[in-house]
Amino acid sequence: MLEANLELVHRGLVLYTFGNASGISRDHGLVVIKPSGVPYEKMKPEHLVVTDLDGKIVEGNLRPSSDLPTHLVLYKAFTEIGGVVHTHSEYATAWAQARREIPCFGTTHADYFYGPVPVTEPMPDHEIAGEYEKNTGTAILRAFSGRNPSDLPGVLVANHGPFAWGENAETAAHNAVILEALARTAYFTTTLNQQASPIGKTLHDRHYLRKHGSSSYYGQAKDGK
Ligand SMILES: [Zn+2]
Repeated sequence: MLEANLELVHRGLVLYTFGNASGISRDHGLVVIKPSGVPYEKMKPEHLVVTDLDGKIVEGNLRPSSDLPTHLVLYKAFTEIGGVVHTHSEYATAWAQARREIPCFGTTHADYFYGPVPVTEPMPDHEIAGEYEKNTGTAILRAFSGRNPSDLPGVLVANHGPFAWGENAETAAHNAVILEALARTAYFTTTLNQQASPIGKTLHDRHYLRKHGSSSYYGQAKDGK
């Protein structure tokens, strides 16, 4: 978990104490998350906070990241995920602030996201005034109505920034790094050609499906198969 958090720093995704990564043990029903406000360079494994799925602290002396309730909403709704990462990485946040989904302009995007990176609707005032972090999770779930979190491992929260997830914390951090790279190249694409159109379906399918799904063939076989 510490390594997943530090990966965000090493890849230039976080400033100061921004951002947080968590992981879940489904067997134990326990979540491990970054503590709130501790500088990354001083963070040690014992600073991480263990909570249950209701956010009750089970282990650790520090307060968990204030975004914990968002992570918990995602773990409860997206039962296939094992890690969640939130950053304010520059280009993904720019798209989130522009409240624009990121179109799939090329094969790098198509390798990871089966379609555009969704953006949430702005949250109504009563949700912001209420349980804000939990309601941020609810806004993400609304954006995923009819969408599959396994096919789209990240989202832009309007006027805020990206959340990414994966089968574990390491994959979630990796997907957050990829999401920032996609946001950056998509920004350059639209700058160079404001009429740039998304990748065609055949090329998109070819790239996504060779890495994911039952007939994937990219990389090395797993489990000796
Ligand atoms: Zn944030």
